[in-house]
Amino acid sequence: MEQMLVELHHAGHKTGLFAVDLIQRPSKVQVEPSGEELFLEWNSTVDDSGRLRGCIICSGEVFRERTFRQVTGVVVVLAFAGAVAGILGLVTTWVMLIAMTFVLLLDIAILLLGRPRLVCYTCGTRYKKLSIAPYHQRWDSDRNEQLQRTADNPLDS
Ligand SMILES: [Zn+2]
Repeated sequence: MEQMLVELHHAGHKTGLFAVDLIQRPSKVQVEPSGEELFLEWNSTVDDSGRLRGCIICSGEVFRERTFRQVTGVVVVLAFAGAVAGILGLVTTWVMLIAMTFVLLLDIAILLLGRPRLVCYTCGTRYKKLSIAPYHQRWDSDRNEQLQRTADNPLDS
């Protein structure tokens, strides 16, 4: 069975990586490239069917990452801009065709490469190469801002 890939992030930067088996659930892993040892939290972070339910680093909630939809949105905007430019005669037909083909190929590439991921927005850890339970919700940016506000002003509450 393929191991789950875990990427540690800090302040928007990838700080470490390790692979872990969701069935064996080792209590301790070694992080690459630092070699640092990290203790994992398996208590109530994996559901009955062996799928990740919570963050094994901080026990936080994990969410489906929305990169796929965001990139698709960009592609739609680009395609629309290309069509408008073509209609207005701002670009010649063949330039537009090349651009549209590029956009289409990009879209197909995203479809093929767009593997689902889970993200913990509490500690920034990303989980790849895993089967994702259907109950995971997509991240809501309003909530992200709320959490960040809370994190910025811990003395407010
Ligand atoms: Zn976490």
